[in-house]
Amino acid sequence: MLRQVAEGVLIQQSEFCQTNTVVVQGQAGVLLIDPGILGYEMAALADDLRELDQPVVAGFSTHPHWDHLLWDARLGAAPRYGTARCAATVRDRRLTDADAKARIAAQFIPPDIAPQVSLDLFGLITGLPAHAAQIPWDGPQVRIIEHQAHAPGHAALWIEERGVLIGGDMISDVLIPLLDLNDTADPIESYLAGLRLLEGVAGDVDVLVPGHGSVGGTDQVHARIDQDRAYVHALRDAHVLSDPRVGPSAKDGWDWVADVHARQLQRLAQRSERDGTSG
Ligand SMILES: [Zn+2]
Repeated sequence: MLRQVAEGVLIQQSEFCQTNTVVVQGQAGVLLIDPGILGYEMAALADDLRELDQPVVAGFSTHPHWDHLLWDARLGAAPRYGTARCAATVRDRRLTDADAKARIAAQFIPPDIAPQVSLDLFGLITGLPAHAAQIPWDGPQVRIIEHQAHAPGHAALWIEERGVLIGGDMISDVLIPLLDLNDTADPIESYLAGLRLLEGVAGDVDVLVPGHGSVGGTDQVHARIDQDRAYVHALRDAHVLSDPRVGPSAKDGWDWVADVHARQLQRLAQRSERDGTSG
């Protein structure tokens, strides 16, 4: 079910991890950002768009993780974009190969939703030129804010004329910062740098849409950036964590975030041991 969050900007939220798909209306059709998860949800979205007489004219994946790289044939055959680094990651890791898809299905997709997740059109994205400033399409300008916080080539998107900031997998009210511990030399600093970039536009944001979680208004923007930064600082400085997203205060269905947090702590500790650094 589509819900308008700003003029010409609608979202559909998945049952899976409150994943937000963003629909931006342009001249001749819509831009679809992080198209969705479950087959019946994408089918419903395709139906809604057909009723609105709004074909999909472009797609965009905010980063190269499975839950942001899906597509459904019923959404049509528009070009699907990602940052150059996002597309390179899909290519280098051969994520569209059959054996990679089998691995993703086995390791990452929860069994209860697997029958509703099709990997047929998974990861078929075209990389934009390196450092592309915006998504090429016939609609409101969508600025790309690229950084290496959560995944290679992770992109937040800023639709200035609508006041909408799309955060990718950052600034969520339910999901903690998940650092990219594989691809960055300094995952903590990379994450903090990403948050600084978001902070650069925060003053003009009316609506923020995280990749997972609740849409926030103006009052939420700085609060969520601060909350993410405090989490990363706690990791960096080995402070006791007080974050509402971890532990008993986590929202219903998000209790697993505490395990993800524990695993992240453990991996960071292994990293600093390996690097011979402490703290
Ligand atoms: Zn995600």
